Amino acid sequence: MAFSKTEYKVKCLSCGGELSDEGYPLGCPHCDKPGFIQADYGKKQIEFGSEEMGLYRFADWLPVKHTLEGSGAPITYKSEALAKELGLTDLWITFNGWWPEKGARMKTGAFKECEAYAVCGRMGDDWKDTLVVASAGNTARAFARVCSDNNIPLVLCVPEDNIDALWFDKPLNDCVKLYCTESGSDYFDAIALSGKVCALDGFAPEGGAKNIARRDGMATTVLSCAEAMQAIPEYYFQAVGSGTGAIAAWEAMNRLIEDGRFGSNKMKLLVSQNTPFLPIYDSWKRGGRDFIELDGDTAREQAEAVVGKVLTNRKPPYSLTGGLYDALVDTEGDVIAVSNEEASQAGALFKELEGNDVSPAASVAVASLIQAVEAGTVPKDGRIMLNITGGGMERFMSEHEMFFLQPTHVFSKEPSQEEVAEVLKA
Ligand SMILES: [Zn+2]
Repeated sequence: MAFSKTEYKVKCLSCGGELSDEGYPLGCPHCDKPGFIQADYGKKQIEFGSEEMGLYRFADWLPVKHTLEGSGAPITYKSEALAKELGLTDLWITFNGWWPEKGARMKTGAFKECEAYAVCGRMGDDWKDTLVVASAGNTARAFARVCSDNNIPLVLCVPEDNIDALWFDKPLNDCVKLYCTESGSDYFDAIALSGKVCALDGFAPEGGAKNIARRDGMATTVLSCAEAMQAIPEYYFQAVGSGTGAIAAWEAMNRLIEDGRFGSNKMKLLVSQNTPFLPIYDSWKRGGRDFIELDGDTAREQAEAVVGKVLTNRKPPYSLTGGLYDALVDTEGDVIAVSNEEASQAGALFKELEGNDVSPAASVAVASLIQAVEAGTVPKDGRIMLNITGGGMERFMSEHEMFFLQPTHVFSKEPSQEEVAEVLKA
């Protein structure tokens, strides 16, 4: 199957209005109520493409105009060793990262690559701006690689403490520029910096969770799993920072229900956070749509204390229409808190039993599964998807020579708009 431009419309989940995808909207111009916009694909029954197509084997349900070279796709297999250890009979592992023997070929080691290839595939010939991405690390690495390989101008905003996450197996093309907020700042400070960059002419935000391509790129994890299971999973485990991956999983579930060939069950979202950084956990356990926002100093302190650094988003899309709260309510989901120690043990167990290393965030997800099994939240014969959002990185790094992206400039924690303008124009 060759790629042909995907047919889709864009609709607003708040007012139900339809909008044009021209100009790459990140929100609805017709209403004020906070809510996501969503792609509505022409093809209601997905046809999976061949493996050689990489991520674009899921292009029927990706809002893309063209394909890029070098993408990898999530792969799914049925677990034997970990399943046996936990007494589970129907555990499936969706693996994003580097595991060539299993067909997993994401050279940046995490499912952020799915987002990057989808977002850049959505950008047509009319895209003229420099793309701006704020990230705690993994997302920046993914976008850097995709943009470097495909000659797309990119500005990355990353906290200085996280730049060791920007490793690559070859030097990057200079269309990719890195700007940092100084040591001691966090992901939120990097987001604020990216906002100031985007206020300048010629720069445009990638949009994060609001970008339909980003969510549908992440949704391919569930499509991969449903293809392998030939069914919609009953239980879905993932560690979350912004929760965008879980929202995307829910959107994929709804499309699969509409497809009709994968069953009609809802997929219970069991998402996890890393103690002590627990704003989603706390908000959910308190109940209600309102999100408990952490103040800056508390958030930075807590973010420093967790192993899953990428799980420390202070302002996740929780309350808005189509956001994480809605997804958890609709699927009767839950949020699980995992300690650093539980995560480390779970990561080691996964490596021992399944045979590959997993990222700290993914080890949080493995630990949440172990907790849920011990608590009896999932039945032993439940049809379970474990989303390993990153893995094989240690292995990839040990097998390749590593190059690290260096910052073009390091800003203070909260630079002024003038200062940002001056540096970016230089
Ligand atoms: Zn609207």
